[in-house]
Amino acid sequence: MRIPGSEVYRAFPELDQFSDAQCREYVHLVRRRRWAWWVLAGLLQIVFALAGMLMLIVAVIVLTHDATNVGGDAVAVVVIVAATLPTGLLVMLTRDFVLRRAIRWQLARVDCHRCRYTLLGMPVVDGSIICPECGFVLELDKYGLTGDDFIAAREE
Ligand SMILES: [Zn+2]
Repeated sequence: MRIPGSEVYRAFPELDQFSDAQCREYVHLVRRRRWAWWVLAGLLQIVFALAGMLMLIVAVIVLTHDATNVGGDAVAVVVIVAATLPTGLLVMLTRDFVLRRAIRWQLARVDCHRCRYTLLGMPVVDGSIICPECGFVLELDKYGLTGDDFIAAREE
């Protein structure tokens, strides 16, 4: 199983043809393109982390006020882990979820606008990419795209 946050781009078969270095660069590009999503993800992570801390504080208060101390320290450990683990996972998964959505969004932008064939890795010639499937000429300027959006092959 893939660890959340690591090589998230490998979940996308469209990116299989590219090296890890190219994919990492592509993820940076996606982050720049969707920076507002990152701000939102960061805020969500803070909310989840605060919720986890709150649950931890409540768990500690309840445990320290339990005069009978049923079960002792083992119960305390279980309660504290149960209070914090789900929020810790949520914090990690939020970033992963947002990154996946952002990559998906980016990959949809670089499909042929007529037949949906992916134009990733196609060469840019005179500011355009020609779809090898249907011949559609995608003018990059028109859509605010650059060769980097396509991990475009360098012009010879
Ligand atoms: Zn096409």
